[in-house]
Amino acid sequence: MTIRLQNYSVDAWVSGVGAEQPVVSAINGEVVALASSGGLDFAAMLEHARSVGGPALRAMTFHQRANILKALAQAIIERKEELYALSVTTGATRGDSWIDIEGGAGTLFSISAKGRRELPDDVLIVDGELEQIGKEGTFVGQHVYTTLHGAALHINAFNFPVWGMLEKLGPALLAGIPVIVKPATATAQVAEHAVRIMIETGVLPRGGLQLIVGPVGDTLDHLGCQDVVSFTGSAATAVKLQTHPVIAREAVRFIAERDSINASILGPDADADSPEFGLFVKEIVREMTVKAGQKCTAIRRAFVPRGLLDRTQQEIEDRLSKVVIGDPANDTVTMGALVGISQREDVRAKARELATECKLIFGSIDTVETLGDAVLGAYQSPLLFRNDDPWTAKVVHDLEIFGPVCTLMPYDDPGDALALANRGNGSLALSVFSHSPDVVRAFVLGSGAFHGRLAFIDRDCAKESTGHGSPLPMLIHGGPGRAGGGEEMGGMRAVKHYMQRSALQGSPRSLSTVVRQWLPGAPQTEAIAHPFRKRFGELELGYTLKTESRTITLDDVEHFAHFTGDTFYAHMDEVAAAASPIFGGRVAHGYLILSFAAGLFVDPAPGPVLANFGLENLRFIKPVKPGESIKVALTAKAKSLRSPKMGEVRWSVAVTNQDNELVAAYDLLTMNAV
Ligand code: NDP
Repeated sequence: MTIRLQNYSVDAWVSGVGAEQPVVSAINGEVVALASSGGLDFAAMLEHARSVGGPALRAMTFHQRANILKALAQAIIERKEELYALSVTTGATRGDSWIDIEGGAGTLFSISAKGRRELPDDVLIVDGELEQIGKEGTFVGQHVYTTLHGAALHINAFNFPVWGMLEKLGPALLAGIPVIVKPATATAQVAEHAVRIMIETGVLPRGGLQLIVGPVGDTLDHLGCQDVVSFTGSAATAVKLQTHPVIAREAVRFIAERDSINASILGPDADADSPEFGLFVKEIVREMTVKAGQKCTAIRRAFVPRGLLDRTQQEIEDRLSKVVIGDPANDTVTMGALVGISQREDVRAKARELATECKLIFGSIDTVETLGDAVLGAYQSPLLFRNDDPWTAKVVHDLEIFGPVCTLMPYDDPGDALALANRGNGSLALSVFSHSPDVVRAFVLGSGAFHGRLAFIDRDCAKESTGHGSPLPMLIHGGPGRAGGGEEMGGMRAVKHYMQRSALQGSPRSLSTVVRQWLPGAPQTEAIAHPFRKRFGELELGYTLKTESRTITLDDVEHFAHFTGDTFYAHMDEVAAAASPIFGGRVAHGYLILSFAAGLFVDPAPGPVLANFGLENLRFIKPVKPGESIKVALTAKAKSLRSPKMGEVRWSVAVTNQDNELVAAYDLLTMNAV
């Protein structure tokens, strides 16, 4: 049955009019879907996103948006079998689709959880520390991120129609920007259904998500300075879009993730018996066959110490000979099809070009042994090439072949290996199989600048390792140069691509209100009731308890030293302490100061403060000598609701001496009843 795919435009499912593009099964060449975006009003879609979706999303806090992401991920998981069924026609095995569908939902879950944990229950992000500009502290600076008022246009690749969409959608929605998704037409039947599942949850605000199946028409002509384009695909298309006059003129943010000729290296410390050798061989074959090599991070170039070249070749060949190619519906199949015949023709044409300088040592470019339909299915034999002179070769370092193709090459020493890896001119991923930390450091220093992600795999981490080719939601995905210069994911870093960083300058009073944090220099309300008597909701920022002072005696110091076992010379040995360039005589323990500070500000009876769960940013600024005294100012600095019943309170604690000099400062965290 042929599905007529629909667009989701201005909160309605609409069929395109006019010419339709066929989406063809990778397995048997049947037309499985028809896509058309004809008749869509692209300017109106952008306007709807900006004027309806954006304001609705920006009215929610990060935590509310994170809850939406969780609901979307749950819906994908609940209805995953519908997506698996559709994915079969893209040539993907169940394992390939697991990466796409459940990996996609997992990525959304992860972004949602990190959003709730790492972002405030607010709409702006504070970036870095307060900068004191004036001497008196009345004029200060603070960086913040606020959400862009435009729309995000996500143009996705064909290889992971669900994951590729969700890894971009999650950070954008969390940032509060509405999204228009344009999936690759070749696998749009899967992406369209995933969008349908998400829309049917009912959790997205109107205008929050729209979908274009087919060409984007004149969308780019209507982009503006608040919009973001995030693109995954070929370098040729990326360059075309990036140089679009409107994108250039309006300085539209453009995140590109494109061709990448990734490398993997067997370390110089490995030999044929070391565990890293076996791990390397296994990974090369895995990267060639998962998703039939149609992965932006797949290993295209494998480098080994020259003396191990023959042995490595033999081991890889042995493993490749066991690969079963065919229709993923057949349980014995271990590698599916390419996405379509035209993609296969592209792979074959490029493989022929590679064969002009590299020797084909496994597989056949033009014929394939398959359990599927060898004529109408887009099956491709894995192709292992070898080149013994990688410095003379050119094509292998410059041409991305998006299929089950890899070239094995030797290197002479570590410097040679990393220079060869860097010949990819900017890649998404480099893996090094080495058990030597010194080798690892040399690769980071020599190759870090050319790679977005570097995976060092050895016997210690192999069991838990996610391998060479898996981008992870908490780590950045992207790379310099040929790989596009973009960056996706990386935890909350990705959210900031959809926000503007601004430097704020002003008085502590006004900036405190902006960032919803009491900042040093902002007004403080002197406590009448003890702050620990106040519930989360009653506590106002800036509410400050100023304590009595307490003198620290030599007896206190000695008692504390013997009680805790901390008899460090600075506290116990007058002669040694006097000789110290820092202390100039015996001083109180820093922990004694902290303990006495708590004794000064704590209100002991049960009440709204449920627990003290940590200190942050602790600094001992000035030593306190026996006979000196300390006092504390405890100020409510920031609040963050953690559940309907509890909220975290961050207190600024300033400990001063008898001369009002700061001796210790830190943030105290308590959990308070709402
Ligand atoms: P394309 O660059 O052709 O397509 C990528 C996306 O861009 C698709 O959604 C495509 O839509 C869209 N697109 C194409 N032209 C335009 C345009 N003028 N305006 C707006 N959108 C456009 O890449 P393919 O997916 O066809 O793959 C081709 C090659 O790209 C692969 O063989 C591989 O070498 C490389 N590639 C690299 C990836 C990576 O992550 N590094 C991922 C995928 C591919 P439509 O499908 O409708 O044409």
